[in-house]
Parts: sequence; C-alpha cells; structure tokens
Amino acid sequence: MFAIFVVTCLVAFAGYRLRSLTRSGAVLTVVTGAVIGYGFGWFGLYLLGVFFSTSSLASKYRARDKAPVDEIVEKSGPRDFVQVLANGGVGMVTALGMILAPNDAWLFAYVASIAAATSDTWGSEFGVLAKQKPRSIRTFREVEPGTSGGVSVFGTVMSIVGATVIILASLPFIEIDVTFALVLIALGLSGSVVDTLLGATVQRKYRCRVCGKLTEKKIHHREPTAYVSGWRFLGNDAVNFLSIAAAATISFLLLR
Ligand SMILES: [Zn+2]
Repeated sequence: MFAIFVVTCLVAFAGYRLRSLTRSGAVLTVVTGAVIGYGFGWFGLYLLGVFFSTSSLASKYRARDKAPVDEIVEKSGPRDFVQVLANGGVGMVTALGMILAPNDAWLFAYVASIAAATSDTWGSEFGVLAKQKPRSIRTFREVEPGTSGGVSVFGTVMSIVGATVIILASLPFIEIDVTFALVLIALGLSGSVVDTLLGATVQRKYRCRVCGKLTEKKIHHREPTAYVSGWRFLGNDAVNFLSIAAAATISFLLLR
C-alpha cells in the first residue's frame, strides 16, 4: 500500500511539473490514485496511468492548432481538481465499492469508467482536429470545432479507438473473452454518447457579447457572456462526470 501511495505521488508530481495538472489537480490525483490503488491494486493504478498519460499526450498533440477551441471550451490547460474529480471520481466510487462490498462487477464498472473517460477525451482532443466541421447531434447543423454536442466522423472514430485502447491495455490482466471485450468497448463508448447528448441539450451555453461566438465561458473578450441555453448548473465538468457515471452504472447493473 505504501508503494502504491509513493508511485501515485510521483505521478501527480510529474503531472504538475509537465503542466498537465494544477496544484489542486495534483493533490486530488494523489487521493484518487490512492483509493483506486487500494481498491483494485496495481492494475487499477496502471489503467488510471494509461488514461492519464494518453489523455495528456492527446491534449498536447497539435496544441497550437487547437487554440481556437480554447475560445469555446470552459477550461483549457492544466487540469484542476474539479476536472480530476469529473474524470476519476466515478473510478474512486467503484474502488470504494470494491473495498466495502467486494464483487467483480465493481472492477468491470471501473474499467468501463476509465474506457468512457478515455473515449470522451480522445474524441474531443482529436475530434477538434477533423478536417470537416462537426455537426450538432441535435440540429445537424455545422458547429465550431469544440462545441459540446457536436460530432464528426473522425472524432467518433477516435472515441472508439480510445475505449479500445483501454480494453486492450486491460486484456493481459483481467479475464475477458472477445465478446466481453467488445461489450466493454461499447460501454466505454456509451460514455461519449451520453456526453454528446447532454452537451447538445442540457449543458449550459453562453454567447460572447463582443464577438458573437457560442462558448462555455462565463467571460469572453473580457466581457461577461450572455446565457443562451441549458441548465445553468450543468457545465462541462458535470457533464463529464455524469456521462462516465452512466457508463459505469450500466456496466455494474449488467455484470452484477
Ligand atoms: Zn468573444
């Protein structure tokens, strides 16, 4: 257990130094890593590491080309503790479940939650680089890359690849056959689907009073933005959390 804690601290510190995490994000990563390591051992930590490292690489990949997207999304740059909680909170709950009432269903719910987080991150980090503009899943109209609820073929493919990478990375350590692996990939992808659906419907959206762009930011061009639609309390982090929770819950109920 001590070794798990030390490794978690080292990873969080590295994430902080590499500007993938803010200070608060690094602290919460230690907590998340320790709970997941306690619940699922080295495998849990390893899978978290695969998500964390590939997602950090994905956000740094062609970062300069994604600059326009920073104008739309609520947060960019290092992840703060709310973002860590949004992506790892569900994993932490499944680990607590495993500790309190051991059952393999928690393990598969955990794998599905990490697959969902990766699928969603890959879909958005790579999807915004698609040559074609994404279309809103609700209105089918073209939207700016980075707009929540927008989908592109490339982004969808990368969502599937992201979920697949997590399941492939799990294969050597947990006993699953091909059919089950495909089910887990689908469960991971379901997280991205829920994320997109919520993003297109109830996630809060604002419009800049200066440039007129739709954005998730409360301040744009140094002016407070105007509320357009969605539930005011439902921002990007909450949507992330809910979509990962949905994937984990479906897995748990299915596999219990
Ligand atoms: Zn603006």
